[in-house]
Amino acid sequence: MNPACRATYSVSETLVDCSKCGHLLDIAYDWNRVPLPGSLKQFESRWSSRRNPLDFSGVWRFRELLPFARDEQIVTIGEGQTILQSSAGVGKYAGFQTGKLLLQYEGLNPSGSFKDNGMTAASTHAHMVGAKVAACASTGNTSASLAIYSSTTRLFETIVFIGSGKIAYGKLSQALDYGAKTLQIQGDFDDALKQVRDVCAARGIYLCNSVNPFRLEGQKSIMFRVLEALNWEVPDWIVVPGGNLGNSSAFGKAFFELKELGLIHRIPRLAVINATGSNTLYQLFEQHKIRWNGGKLDEAKINGFFGQMDTDNRRASTLATAIEINRPVNLLKCLRALEVCDGVVREVSDEAILEAKAQIGAGGFGCEPASAAGVAGAKLLREQGVISPSDQVVCILTGHQLKDPTSTVAYHSVDPARLSAIATTEDDAYATMLSKAGVTQTPAANRPIVVENKFESIMALLDRIGC
Ligand SMILES: *Cc1c(COP(=O)(O)O)cnc(C)c1O
Ligand SMILES: [Zn+2]
Repeated sequence: MNPACRATYSVSETLVDCSKCGHLLDIAYDWNRVPLPGSLKQFESRWSSRRNPLDFSGVWRFRELLPFARDEQIVTIGEGQTILQSSAGVGKYAGFQTGKLLLQYEGLNPSGSFKDNGMTAASTHAHMVGAKVAACASTGNTSASLAIYSSTTRLFETIVFIGSGKIAYGKLSQALDYGAKTLQIQGDFDDALKQVRDVCAARGIYLCNSVNPFRLEGQKSIMFRVLEALNWEVPDWIVVPGGNLGNSSAFGKAFFELKELGLIHRIPRLAVINATGSNTLYQLFEQHKIRWNGGKLDEAKINGFFGQMDTDNRRASTLATAIEINRPVNLLKCLRALEVCDGVVREVSDEAILEAKAQIGAGGFGCEPASAAGVAGAKLLREQGVISPSDQVVCILTGHQLKDPTSTVAYHSVDPARLSAIATTEDDAYATMLSKAGVTQTPAANRPIVVENKFESIMALLDRIGC
């Protein structure tokens, strides 16, 4: 990953960082040895052979573009059956011409988030190296994904490390139900990730966080499916929420490789959206102007930034828990992706995220808060004139609505009058939760209506609301 370091390692090793320079590893292929198709369109022929699980998988039917495993080594549970959808309501809300804003709905994956695209690849590599135990730290979705691969395939045992506090219940319930050994660390996600890295290194446990470069290979396929849905036309923009920055890094790598291979002729622009309460990338890229710069980046400045973060004991805080991360491990790879894709970074408030989420729900595509950051970011970039109303824009809806029902119910049911003063709302959990996140209004809320348990009262209410 450090372009100055030429160290290479075999695919049979389980390192995540380079023992020479200490940077994360990156997967590179000798494309001359890969039987590549002449055009991307040829991948469509696999639809007709989808009884073959490798052709059915939305990841592995593009296997020539992530060729690190032999067919018989591949671990798949039918991930990636996700499609590009349009919603007139959401497009209008974000300020786009009809049909210009599209939603890549990754909540339809087996564990309900895009993480399965990467976990099928990490599971495949774990299987290739004969791992018996796999582990990850997680804000929730990575653990749900690893746990489902472990329970479905029975190839390895799973240990998940979660932080204490803000894990969304849908995600925690998945890890528990799928039978993962679940360790609740008394710290936050950034702490849990540090612990799991040390523990895996000490015990020889296979590490499945997005420091694992194979996960990013699988996540490239999200872009392949977007291109396929657009009949192999490249959109103008890809908009994605940024947490640990694995997705944005993978997208940049996908487009860079496709262009190098002559399979596309243009690269879309990339917008990575942080939550205001966990905006490390936004600060580094937009405020401190840190750039990949062909690999010659200002590491002293980055280290200074994290040093100051430690000194101030600054912790990530957002209701979009999937992106509540202050130390994104794939920072450098993401900076590289931003360079390849002429990208921008924006931050959006929890209030904007929850409003966008309610609009996405009303448009028929429920998602969790982190996913809605993408749509809120597209709306902001539209307002700023960075994206034009006629641009073709694809927002990645990263996770399913049912992952985090608490935030949904809180947004819709809270009494807006109680959002202004935290002091008076301690008796109301939802008002407290939203106030602490800086939410002062809920214009897209669809509040439940309380009514007496009496036929006449219900009929009178229906008259009043015109039903
Ligand atoms: C993991 C996750 C993200 C963040 O993705 P990164 O690759 O870590 O930047 C966003 N949304 C959801 C739903 C996630 O599970
Ligand atoms: Zn190195």
